[in-house]
Amino acid sequence: MRIAVIGGGISGISVARMLKEVADVTVYERNSNVGGLIRCEELPAGLYHLLGGHVFNAQSPDVSAWFWRHFDREGEFHHLTRNARILLGNSQVGYPLENHLYQLPPAQCAAVVQDLIAIAQDAGRTPPANFRDFLLGTFGPTLCEAYFFPYNAKLWRCDLSSIPLGWLEGKLPMPLVADILRANVLRQAEKGMVHSQFFYPRHGGSQFIIDRLATGLSLRLSTEVSRLIRTADGCWRVNDEPTAYDRVVYTGDVRALGRMLGASDTPPELGRLQALRTRGITNAFCHCDSTAISWLYVPDAGYRANRIIYTGAFSPENNRTGRMTCVVEFAYGESGAAIAGDLHRLPGNLELIATNSVADAYVIQEHDTRESIAQLKATLKARGLWLLGRFAEWEYYNMDKCIGAAMQLAGEMGGRSWCLDGRCPPAESKLR
Ligand SMILES: Cc1cc2nc3c(=O)[nH]c(=O)nc-3n(C[C@H](O)[C@H](O)[C@H](O)COP(=O)(O)OP(=O)(O)OC[C@H]3O[C@@H](n4cnc5c(N)ncnc54)[C@H](O)[C@@H]3O)c2cc1C
Repeated sequence: MRIAVIGGGISGISVARMLKEVADVTVYERNSNVGGLIRCEELPAGLYHLLGGHVFNAQSPDVSAWFWRHFDREGEFHHLTRNARILLGNSQVGYPLENHLYQLPPAQCAAVVQDLIAIAQDAGRTPPANFRDFLLGTFGPTLCEAYFFPYNAKLWRCDLSSIPLGWLEGKLPMPLVADILRANVLRQAEKGMVHSQFFYPRHGGSQFIIDRLATGLSLRLSTEVSRLIRTADGCWRVNDEPTAYDRVVYTGDVRALGRMLGASDTPPELGRLQALRTRGITNAFCHCDSTAISWLYVPDAGYRANRIIYTGAFSPENNRTGRMTCVVEFAYGESGAAIAGDLHRLPGNLELIATNSVADAYVIQEHDTRESIAQLKATLKARGLWLLGRFAEWEYYNMDKCIGAAMQLAGEMGGRSWCLDGRCPPAESKLR
């Protein structure tokens, strides 16, 4: 059994690692190193996350167990607690904002309390249909105007009412009014949110993670797959190479798949998916003043930046000079002048070292995207072509969700008992 995995990001490398035990697996990656979105570069100033500032946390026990099989948790990672803040005016308020109402100016705090009472009394209201309604119905107009609307408008650059709620499932706090009041009275640290606690490598950031997971795999680096041809006997050929693959796992952008397959082999579902939108990011790598903050969110529309990730606070190894390092996140395509202007005004004496832009960083789902992807997956799977990962499945996955999806796929393909939290492939499932 030969399997080609297209894409050497966390999804492709994880599934290749899982299937390697039962098949002859080759990973094709167009870049000269593995990692995709989680790649980092070592610069004289320190470790540069080319996108985001990736930290690891797994909600699923099976994903966690699989991941830690490859690492020495205590020896190779720091275990950290999130210390995030929101920049409101000149003040920094705790994150999540709804749990730190007591840090707001008294009049604003009183207005929020009135909003929350109104929400609690409106028991018969219809459930939210979209992201904007959800924010308004959960936090009320005062917090929405101060933080949730401007921050999310900056991040998503689209009408928030066009975003279906399912897209952000598991990413959003969904507190009831009682939860918010309790958190403020008791001043408890929240524990339930994604990355409220997280792991971060002592050396090398997320590049360390992917390099370790890729060890021992058969990698074809700097090899872009531009053609995927199905032969008469149902096998696949990649870029007209002679090797015949029984199965292909595709982890690239689903919108690019039609071009690879050619007109005669392109399922009609792919047509509908061409209009899907993404959001890109420009990451500005900077020196900054030393801080214990992990993330600083910047909702103020007067800044173009949406957050600062203090990657230098995650591991001291990330700082190579006397100053700490961080990344400041901007929208894709932000001008150099706008970036310089923000760096000058944002706190922490920021000093620009390098910038990197990624056009496709976040996927934006439409109301029918999940259904269309599910149909496409079924059609392609019958031909031996499987979709996996953030851009192939068009899901707002974090690294742990990519690994979970890889486990499910490896399980379905019949690789050695890859079960995800109790969901196991049928016993008779065999790879051949
Ligand atoms: C700003 C930001 C911050 C984030 N922070 C975190 C975080 O802190 N923690 C966390 O867990 N997750 C985080 N994530 C999510 C995480 O980055 C993704 O879930 C994950 O990296 C997606 O991996 P993937 O393998 O599915 O896709 P990708 O990383 O996009 O990998 C796909 C790979 O396929 C290759 N490829 C595509 N087409 C072809 C082709 N035709 N031929 C050959 N190669 C091809 C690409 O070059 C790429 O390497 C963040 C995401 C963003 C945008």
